[in-house]
Amino acid sequence: MPDFDVVIVGSGPGGATTADVLTAAGKSVCVLEKGRNHLLALEPPFESLGRLSNDEIKFNRRHFLGPDPLLEPRTYRRAVADGDRIFTGDVNNMPSTVGGAGYHADGKLPRYREIDFRLAGELGPVDGAEVADWPVDYDEIEPYYAEAERAIGVAGDHTGNPFAAWRSGRYPMPPGADMFLTTLTGPAAETLGYHPYRAPTGANSVPYDGRPACNNCGFCAFYGCPIEAKGDPVALLRRALRTGNCEIRPESIALEILVDSTGKQSRGVRYLDADGTQHEVTSNAAVVACGAFETPRLLLRSGIGNSSDLVGRYLMFHLQTIVLGYFPFRLHAYKGRDVTHLMDDPIVGDAASAAAAKTAGVPYLRGGIVEHGGSGHPIGEALYTPPGQQHSARMAASDRRDRMVGFTMQGEDLPQATNRVDLDPAVRDVWGLPAGRITYTSHEHDVACAHHWGPRLEEVLRQAGAHTTSWLTSPGTPGTRVPGLQPISRHWMGTARMGDDPRRSVCDPWQRLWDVDNVVVTDSSVFPTSTGYGPTLTLVALAVRAARALAGIEPLTSDRANAI
Ligand SMILES: Cc1cc2nc3c(=O)[nH]c(=O)nc-3n(C[C@H](O)[C@H](O)[C@H](O)COP(=O)(O)OP(=O)(O)OC[C@H]3O[C@@H](n4cnc5c(N)ncnc54)[C@H](O)[C@@H]3O)c2cc1C
Ligand code: SF4
Repeated sequence: MPDFDVVIVGSGPGGATTADVLTAAGKSVCVLEKGRNHLLALEPPFESLGRLSNDEIKFNRRHFLGPDPLLEPRTYRRAVADGDRIFTGDVNNMPSTVGGAGYHADGKLPRYREIDFRLAGELGPVDGAEVADWPVDYDEIEPYYAEAERAIGVAGDHTGNPFAAWRSGRYPMPPGADMFLTTLTGPAAETLGYHPYRAPTGANSVPYDGRPACNNCGFCAFYGCPIEAKGDPVALLRRALRTGNCEIRPESIALEILVDSTGKQSRGVRYLDADGTQHEVTSNAAVVACGAFETPRLLLRSGIGNSSDLVGRYLMFHLQTIVLGYFPFRLHAYKGRDVTHLMDDPIVGDAASAAAAKTAGVPYLRGGIVEHGGSGHPIGEALYTPPGQQHSARMAASDRRDRMVGFTMQGEDLPQATNRVDLDPAVRDVWGLPAGRITYTSHEHDVACAHHWGPRLEEVLRQAGAHTTSWLTSPGTPGTRVPGLQPISRHWMGTARMGDDPRRSVCDPWQRLWDVDNVVVTDSSVFPTSTGYGPTLTLVALAVRAARALAGIEPLTSDRANAI
């Protein structure tokens, strides 16, 4: 008799959603999480631990929610020609804690559009990339999107985005308050022919699910919410704990997924606890939800799932175009939920982007959502100018905080087999495990797209009143201000792609490993393409679908004929 029905590795949005669905269906679940627990009492009545504060040093410098890059280094190179690595340390690190990175995210949660699931079929191949259709389409995933929005608690306006896909119902809450800066950037974008809309966000605009409304404190991205107004994974984990079917084990790093002698069935997970003692937890099925960097690392370490040689390949990050505008007056851009407006125009494209694609020699340019975002906080601002008289004057004027607007375009990056996570041959982490190594170079499509949209988005900021503008990309690209900048998007996708063909994918359409019957991956590793939208709502919707299938519950359905 195994210890649990299911053991889940990772407690971020993917793992937390899976735990929520499985425990509600009466399954017993053990969640292993390598990070510490600062958030949630693990005994009834599962109160908050209250260890959060709006403290830049604690979160950004002292790795309060982990991981410390000295203890858990990642390595990086652009291509094999760079040698084993060119950098060791923090490479687009995701937080590591009970609740995962979802806890830090400020939670813009748009759905993908119909075409995002069938890019290869609709737009054809692109040289140097392996663009693939998803094994699930929008109509099938729509009810899971609706369920994900209900479970997380998403506030939004279903009439706002003229390019949005059809919906079976409204958002669970109306949109929250607009940031002041969008009263300038929104009309400016409209004047230039773009279509800004209120971002669907996972922050309560009204009390919801026993949690209060957001007070727009401004410390949303990179911080947890001190009042639990964010619909982050903690709410899902608390719900799972309340069923009495869930046990969460923090500071427990999974070393290996265990398989039986046939290699086709998992029998549990071997892990190390905080004291360095090894344990085995046995189960009928294992769920891997470590995020799209740690998931392939765990699969490769376990030696499973890789008969296609695709585990870790097709790594995608989003090529971000970051456009900054400096204004002659104060905007209080550090207040609010960090981003309250989006626009999809660079994803949809227009005559100018089609012409730019032709010039670049690629069949199309697909950018990403443009986030109308705020600025940083005082310590981040202080680090720009060395101490001295000029420093004090600059801090008083607050050009980089109170008078600055930042747009971020989450540019679609095309999947390439050479972009990958594998195990570094020499560097090890604090547990003695091989560090994950990232090999990544942007495709020419992604670079052309960023270079097309950077100047166009500068124009929007000038139209809004900025006296100075500039733009850069993450990762850096030739000809930009910081060409060597490493990726900082915090969006990880693609490293255990799902598909219909075991030779061309790691997971089947229900996110099970083709090679091991009872191992399911419920994070954005399974995405065949990156699209230009944040990955979290879609990975949660897919996790609901995969977890229901694992629990043997009927699929959800909705009917396009009843679209609102
Ligand atoms: C500041 C910030 C802002 C963001 N904003 C947005 C946004 O607006 N919209 C959006 O869509 N996305 C956003 N993201 C990205 C979003 O956070 C991720 O897409 C999401 O958290 C991924 O969920 P996940 O469950 O796949 O992985 P994660 O959240 O990374 O969780 C994985 C968990 O697994 C644990 N783990 C890993 N390996 C092991 C192991 N071997 N053993 C045990 N535990 C393990 C990790 O410690 C971690 O807690 C943002 C991220 C950040 C940091
Ligand atoms: S802005 Fe709102 S949701 Fe974000 S941390 Fe502050 S109170 Fe929480």
